[in-house]
Amino acid sequence: MKIAKGRNTLANAFDFSKEPDDLTQDEADLLRRRKNVLGTLGPLFYDHPIHVVRGSEAHLFDAAGTDYLDCYNNVACVGHANEHVREAVADQLAKQDTHSRYLQDEIIDYAERLLGYFTPAYGSVANPHLCGFDRVSFTNSGSESNDLALRMARVYTGAQGVVVTDYAYHGITSLVSSVSPNFGTGVPLAPFLATVRVSDVLSGLSTGAMGDEDVTRILLQRFEEAFEKLHNGGFGVSAVLLDQIFSSDGVLPGNAGWVAAVAQATHDAGGLLIADEVQSGFARTGEAFWGFQRHHADADIVSMGKPMGNGIPVGAVVYKSPIGDALASCTRYFNTFGGNPVSMRAAGAVLDEIEHRDLLRHAKAMGDRICADMEALLGETPRFLMTRHAGLFIGIDIGAADGSGVPDALGARKIISALRDRNILISASGASGSSLKLRPPLVFSDADEDRLMQAVADMKKEGLFG
Ligand code: PMP
Repeated sequence: MKIAKGRNTLANAFDFSKEPDDLTQDEADLLRRRKNVLGTLGPLFYDHPIHVVRGSEAHLFDAAGTDYLDCYNNVACVGHANEHVREAVADQLAKQDTHSRYLQDEIIDYAERLLGYFTPAYGSVANPHLCGFDRVSFTNSGSESNDLALRMARVYTGAQGVVVTDYAYHGITSLVSSVSPNFGTGVPLAPFLATVRVSDVLSGLSTGAMGDEDVTRILLQRFEEAFEKLHNGGFGVSAVLLDQIFSSDGVLPGNAGWVAAVAQATHDAGGLLIADEVQSGFARTGEAFWGFQRHHADADIVSMGKPMGNGIPVGAVVYKSPIGDALASCTRYFNTFGGNPVSMRAAGAVLDEIEHRDLLRHAKAMGDRICADMEALLGETPRFLMTRHAGLFIGIDIGAADGSGVPDALGARKIISALRDRNILISASGASGSSLKLRPPLVFSDADEDRLMQAVADMKKEGLFG
């Protein structure tokens, strides 16, 4: 098969074809050595990359000891170098760390505990449809989780077709990358894929403020069209795979409701709803522990990773037993590192921290505060278009300096670089790359927020927001 060349660049990516002239000798050496051994396949952030050597809470430190405020980390959710996670990992490493084909306490303890976050009573949502998640399989990444989830959906439904949003990112395996339009034309999309645009309606940028009923009606119609296309193509509908915060589509939390309607329509079309919680899970959205709970959606399979082990690689797929039984009747699933005791202890320690530090409530309060302060500070500036957020997942749309409201990716990049110059780390998302993305560790403190707002206030004075 001939693959079309067409590389889609990541927002805020370092350009390997340029030699930055402001690097220290150490940075230049490390960059050269990195290029020699890693090539240019794996991206780096920033025109002037950052050499991180340690971290603490929501802070990263470079080799010179510079303190960067990390507003972009959905892995170190309970803080960089978290002591409780470290202790759990060290303790388990000193005992044993082998695969799950022996009987072990750690995987069972954690599985039972994780499934406890799927009861209808958990969080702020009480929806009887949320019952029934009674099984879990462990992976090492979000990509593996989505890959397994898609395989389960196919076997259970007997169909092949998959529906995603039109700028979705779900990961890097062959299957999952073929249903991730975010990669651009260099990664061919699967013939059994149908995509749905949600960003125009949910961002409100081109459609204005719409009532919830109109949002649901329009999106439902688009999903129905996708189902029809897949049925007509002979693929049927195995799954609708949705990131529950629509991070790569531009951070689109939307109001609760429309995903629930899509779930219902998916079931009517014979498919399953896979909630991709790699970004939105583990209290991130502040209103419920999982994004699909925030949306009151009747999901069938839930995939997760990223924050689950605070940096220790661990992911999972949670599902209802008939779905897993269908796969078990034709094959087995064993993953050498999946569910290993060290990862399980790290994941357990993350849940401890989320509970003990009340991070679900904190994510909501802090996310609301950041957005309110941003709006108060930037509301009248020409470049500021709007904020969207759920908990500590925040998108800020940046427009042209003339106040025309035209999305401006270059303007967004300038703001990202100016914040980096002030030692504050964020990035961008969305098809045009014009939405600033802020997603700090859940332990982001009042002092961290003050520092962020002070930097933005200084940048406003310097005219960076028009
Ligand atoms: N799903 C979503 C929504 C993601 O954002 C990502 C990672 N950015 C993945 C899946 C893949 O996760 P991983 O990088 O751990 O494979």
